[in-house]
Amino acid sequence: MNRWLTMAGAAGLSLACSPVFAAVNVFACLPEWASLATELGGDKVSVYQASNALQDPHRIEARPSLVARMRSADLAICTGAELEIGWLPVLLQTAGNQKVQPGKPGFIAAAELVDRLEIPTRLDRAEGDIHPAGNPHIQLDPHNVAKVAAVVTQRLQQLDPANAAYYDTRGKDFQGRWQQAIGRWEKEAAPLKGLRIVPYHKNTVYLSHWLGMSEVMYIEPKPGIPPSAGHLSELVVRLQAEPADAVIRTAYQDPKAAAWLSEKTKIPVVELPYTVGGTPAARDLFGLFDDTIARLNKVKK
Ligand SMILES: [Zn+2]
Repeated sequence: MNRWLTMAGAAGLSLACSPVFAAVNVFACLPEWASLATELGGDKVSVYQASNALQDPHRIEARPSLVARMRSADLAICTGAELEIGWLPVLLQTAGNQKVQPGKPGFIAAAELVDRLEIPTRLDRAEGDIHPAGNPHIQLDPHNVAKVAAVVTQRLQQLDPANAAYYDTRGKDFQGRWQQAIGRWEKEAAPLKGLRIVPYHKNTVYLSHWLGMSEVMYIEPKPGIPPSAGHLSELVVRLQAEPADAVIRTAYQDPKAAAWLSEKTKIPVVELPYTVGGTPAARDLFGLFDDTIARLNKVKK
């Protein structure tokens, strides 16, 4: 009896979370791609989000529940460019689902669809560089999101031709609303041009590149290497000589170093969502950019 009730309860929960007769099962590595798949696939897709905004996207555990979801996926949408190198290859291999292997129509590596920044001319892993394929944190430039969206629509049509017209309509609707929002964001963010920021990790470079902000130094001495006390003291000295406007901490990062640096330099900390779900207002992709720009505008000169 109890077991039956538990099973019935679990089934009820899964019905509540996803369309009953979804044509396409989407496995989204990260919240931004889950949100995009929902925008574009509507009730024809069932989207599984493998991680949340409070998790470091470089370091997700390839848990058995993720393997099971990858096994039943028709389309996997991840960032690629080695962002998920620590967990995605093992997940794909363990799941053994041929439909979603890289190179198949059921696999999208979003970073391969955009112009990547910071592609290194020389690789030195000894320096702790965890971005050997260029900077993978592409979602904070909305023009990149538009490019990825076009390919997601194409793939949904390819994988589920019976609903091709539906995906076409939804894709056009999204792109129209998105372009309009970009125009609004660019106006709202105009005062941010030239803003000097100190991010924790190089995960806002596309945002800075888009809005013309300057990332003058980083709390991490090298991408992926936590700051030592010595490095933080050096930042204080450098910031006293050349002040910045804001220290940036994104939702998944440890607040301590940013708070310490802010206290020593009197430069305010701005907490950014980084992805969908990173702040209460960043409920979807539109909210992500609305909130990011609103938070930065509070510290503008
Ligand atoms: Zn990174």
